[in-house]
Amino acid sequence: MSGAGERRPYWNMEMEMKQNTPEMREIQWSKVVRKIEYLYNRTPFWKSWLDAAGVKPDDIRTWDDFHKRIPIYKKEDYRALAESCGGDLNSILHELLGDDADRLSLLAATSGTTGEPSPYPFIPEDRPVWAEFEGRQFWRAEVYPGDKMIHGFGLSMFMGGASMCMAVSDYGACCVPVGAEAGTEAILKWARLLKPKALVGTPSLMEYLIQKAPSLTGESVRALGIKSLLCGGEAGAGIPEVRRKIEEAFGARLYDVAFGGCSCDYPEYQGLHYPGEDLVMFELVDPETHEHIPLENGARGLMVQTQLDGGIAMAALRQSPNDITEVYTDQCPCGKTGIRFKIVGRNDDMLKVKGVMVYPAAIEGVINSFVPAIPGEFRIILDEPPPRVVPPLKLKVEHAAGATEEQLRALKKEIEDAMHNKTKIRPEVVWVAPNSLERFLKKKNLFEKKYAK
Ligand SMILES: [Zn+2]
Repeated sequence: MSGAGERRPYWNMEMEMKQNTPEMREIQWSKVVRKIEYLYNRTPFWKSWLDAAGVKPDDIRTWDDFHKRIPIYKKEDYRALAESCGGDLNSILHELLGDDADRLSLLAATSGTTGEPSPYPFIPEDRPVWAEFEGRQFWRAEVYPGDKMIHGFGLSMFMGGASMCMAVSDYGACCVPVGAEAGTEAILKWARLLKPKALVGTPSLMEYLIQKAPSLTGESVRALGIKSLLCGGEAGAGIPEVRRKIEEAFGARLYDVAFGGCSCDYPEYQGLHYPGEDLVMFELVDPETHEHIPLENGARGLMVQTQLDGGIAMAALRQSPNDITEVYTDQCPCGKTGIRFKIVGRNDDMLKVKGVMVYPAAIEGVINSFVPAIPGEFRIILDEPPPRVVPPLKLKVEHAAGATEEQLRALKKEIEDAMHNKTKIRPEVVWVAPNSLERFLKKKNLFEKKYAK
């Protein structure tokens, strides 16, 4: 049975032992050279992209050439491509993939909440790469071939949806695709019927299940007997206070999963180990100048990925999901391999209050450190488009049921002081009634944008 007895530490012993080593850089180099040639010779868009940068595949002879001459591909670049194709998705795919656009086996996409959804097109060659890339994370999250996992992310379109189900299944585990769309009741029903080893979903889903299980099933979520929670899609899985709350309620280990990384079982959060450098290369660049930042302990920058095998489903060439990450290259106390990273925040979500930069994840951490005195639900009120915020930054925070005015006055000051201590900004807490803020099963939206109405 799963989980019983000693297991080897990694899904792929050979490759995962080579993560974060000079040998890995050689493996990446041989693959990246091939990748550039492949894109240049087979796809119209990437040929013109490199031509516009004045680069031919033969010009890339060293890492320095690669870092200095290949531009970073951002979502604005996708938008420009989409416009040039008149928004016609089939033309866009032909630009990106050439003839391979006629061999697609799956199409996932970004949510498109901030405009045009960008596609993640899978050709048949992507499938084993994706399964291997994801499989290494599953193994580290103690989900082994033969185990059952309920899928509680949104299934529709995004990479964590149907594409993830395909990877789970190709890896050899059993995916139960209930999906966030089906709602908490369905997820709880399947968890009770099947007693799965693992559940994957957003931290908000887990929090919602904790809250809803007693009234819907008559039992706490602990009774489900789930051992591994794979959480992603939001910052919460990396916030110690949120992790603790969820792990204690489920009696399970919470693994933070994102961008091919998976956190480890060391009691104190060490970031996400990245076990797939040979499959999808991980780089850091300066968010403004796009200059390469060496992967050194504590380095911080914009994360950039390049898929080294298969097609371009995961990341074409130096593609940025627009997240700021901090990287650690020293040995993790858990003993497992791989560089580690922490997601500091989405570049788009950064706020600037009197010149001080703050990400919603930092605010969420402080708010959650006050649970159970408050439920932990809050919204950041934006009167104008970010990043600039005219102080004070306003936070709508739910108070606990039955709190007296006097208690709330004291607590408001405590939260504002704690926020100032941790983030260097002093917000204004505005109390709202318990359960008055919308709960999200899929991706949590921490902003209330007044200007957008
Ligand atoms: Zn570790």
